[in-house]
Amino acid sequence: MYPASFEYLVPSSLQEAISLLGQHGDDAKLLAGGHSLIPAMKLRLQEPKYLVDISRLPDMRGIREQGGQLVIGALTLHADVATSDVVRRGVPGLAEAAERIGDVQVRNRGTIGGSVAHADPNADYPVILLALNASFVLTGPNGSRTVAADDFFVDLFTTTLDPSEVVTEVHVPGAAGSAYAKFPHPASGYLVVSCGAVLTKDASGNCASARVAVGGLAGKPVRATTVESALAGKPLNADTIAAASAHAADGTDPDDDLFAPAIYKRHIASVYTRQALESAAARL
Ligand SMILES: Cc1cc2nc3c(=O)[nH]c(=O)nc-3n(C[C@H](O)[C@H](O)[C@H](O)COP(=O)(O)OP(=O)(O)OC[C@H]3O[C@@H](n4cnc5c(N)ncnc54)[C@H](O)[C@@H]3O)c2cc1C
Repeated sequence: MYPASFEYLVPSSLQEAISLLGQHGDDAKLLAGGHSLIPAMKLRLQEPKYLVDISRLPDMRGIREQGGQLVIGALTLHADVATSDVVRRGVPGLAEAAERIGDVQVRNRGTIGGSVAHADPNADYPVILLALNASFVLTGPNGSRTVAADDFFVDLFTTTLDPSEVVTEVHVPGAAGSAYAKFPHPASGYLVVSCGAVLTKDASGNCASARVAVGGLAGKPVRATTVESALAGKPLNADTIAAASAHAADGTDPDDDLFAPAIYKRHIASVYTRQALESAAARL
């Protein structure tokens, strides 16, 4: 199907993009990699009158280390994140999530900012970024604000992003003990269920902190807080990890769908949570 007709605008600066969003309000949509927006337009699920193409804006692509965290420009491609030495060394779970997104074409066009702004409940970045305690810099007509992943994702395809704002950066704390495990849908490659895990250990080798996020069980990724508290202070061995992972779906109420019933999703959530935790623990 062809998309509805639209006007194509190419701002030469971030400020111009923000001003175009302000000028056209709900009629305008930002275009980054186009790998979620264009399919939605072709299905007429989205019919923006104006497309504001930010994909070539300068200074919004790249990864740098700053004060113990990674600062990732919103236009950074999934492939750049997956192959970055800085990411693979400092936050291996993030590289693992990026390299599992879609196929080669998707990874070479899609952007991290587009993925988090789109907030697809079956997308990979929201899950791992929630586990990593990442935050997002949102820039609008009145300047920039920083929102933690815990507060950013509201529900399916819904975030706290204002229509006049652009995601400009993703900030990710260093996390050597991080991992991502995904059960992909065999047809689409999107996650059915996935888990992002971040562990730290104390001087005696026990778990000092755990952040665990699970995708596929709700309209947005959710923290598996029972798993987190079950690990606190415990030795990070196979038994404690398996016992904690059994609680991965606690407090969730996933839907049955054409691919899998809720009971199956709840079960594989514990399987993939165990995998992610075992990988994260092995990296400490
Ligand atoms: C065949 C296929 C397979 C895929 N498989 C997966 C998968 O396995 N896992 C996965 O996670 N994703 C998958 N995707 C989605 C892919 O990762 C997209 O690239 C990503 O979700 C959106 O990024 P984008 O840059 O393409 O955004 P776009 O499609 O350009 O935009 C998406 C939305 O975000 C808004 N937006 C874009 N950039 C910004 C910004 N900087 N600030 C504010 N709003 C912005 C746009 O207005 C639009 O509403 C797949 C896509 C395809 C086509």
